[in-house]
Amino acid sequence: MRRVSIFGATGSIGQSTLDLIGRRPEAFRVVVLSGGGNIAMLAEQARRFRPELTVTADEARGPELAEALAGEGLETAAGRSALIESASRPADWIMSGIVGVAGLEPGLVALRQGTTLALANKESLVAAGPLLMETARRHGATVLPVDSEHSAVFQALVGEDISAVERVIITASGGAFRDWPLERLAHATPAEAATHPNWDMGQRITIDSASMFNKALELIETKEFFGIDPALIEVLVHPESLVHAMVGFSDGGLMAHVGPPDMRHAIGYALNWPDRAAIPVERLDFAAIGALSFRAPDDRRWPALRLAREVMQAGGLAGAAFNGAKERALDHFIAGRIPFPRMAELVEEVLGARDWSAGDGVAALETVREADADARRRADAAVAG
Ligand code: NAD
Ligand code: MG
Repeated sequence: MRRVSIFGATGSIGQSTLDLIGRRPEAFRVVVLSGGGNIAMLAEQARRFRPELTVTADEARGPELAEALAGEGLETAAGRSALIESASRPADWIMSGIVGVAGLEPGLVALRQGTTLALANKESLVAAGPLLMETARRHGATVLPVDSEHSAVFQALVGEDISAVERVIITASGGAFRDWPLERLAHATPAEAATHPNWDMGQRITIDSASMFNKALELIETKEFFGIDPALIEVLVHPESLVHAMVGFSDGGLMAHVGPPDMRHAIGYALNWPDRAAIPVERLDFAAIGALSFRAPDDRRWPALRLAREVMQAGGLAGAAFNGAKERALDHFIAGRIPFPRMAELVEEVLGARDWSAGDGVAALETVREADADARRRADAAVAG
């Protein structure tokens, strides 16, 4: 029996993870389930999977969670510190499925127990890639990518020497506004941005797909996870979302990873790694698909990609600032306070507002936290006007 914990259990990634675990109950013992404000779903998951501990990050909802699980003989906890502490509960495999930089600390605590961390939470690599990877190294922990593109690259690299890689291509669907006239973007609503042509994901990453901030984060994620020179990483718009990534080698050969747009593949790969096991995703019928299409991303439509290149160039705390400013810009867009194209402008202003370089070495958690908070403050101040 493998002991597994799921952080962000009530989200899109968390639910897909539990779907896979629930199909092989004899193989897994659930240690921790964590969620946010969706107490009804979290309690239902806890009744089904009977974890050692069920945690809501929302302190005020603790009594509600305890009430919902009363008489079940299940331990509950609430609040940010309880959440972080729960990541130290011994587990063989931990899903980092919280959205936003809020997932960073639970991830770091998990790594300190030398576990295998399945990393969906790309924001932690963007904000603190060197710290995260260094923590893993120091504690003999393993980080496995769960983002579909990064799982694809990881799979293409099995048995390969990274020094033979001459290019990495990550694909992007282009999101909700791929084919909109540019002048219409100023009037795009959060509801319109939160629809995705191919993937069914959480609201925030779906809007980030429309703005390409998601792909911008993934560019940085590729650099941090694989240690690849940013100049070798390309983004390609691929409306069908079937080729997730391609890795090109020094002999001109390319390995493309192809699969249906279903996160259970990448999650399942990480769950079963280094083995492969049956996963109930659709099997592609290429004759029925007929054709795959690709095009270069348009810099005017998606300025976030250029910003990500600047962030990779700057290094230091620029990733933390980029992510923090992006998270607040997204909050402001969702709340109807700023138009869609203003998100990228805001992030660019925050990046240009101060020197985000951090000096030599790996930035400590506290330094990352300060940069994140400073970027958020600056983004909020710019919106307040
Ligand atoms: P989601 O919004 O569906 O779920 C987020 C989860 O995090 C929920 O369980 C929520 O309760 C929890 N959460 C939110 N804020 C929290 C906080 N402050 N503290 C603790 N818990 C909190 O998001 P998602 O789409 O499942 O995405 C999760 C992560 O996976 C993100 O980093 C996203 O970029 C990444 N990812 C998602 C997909 C996808 O298909 N959904 C694909 C690739 C990568
Ligand atoms: Mg992705």
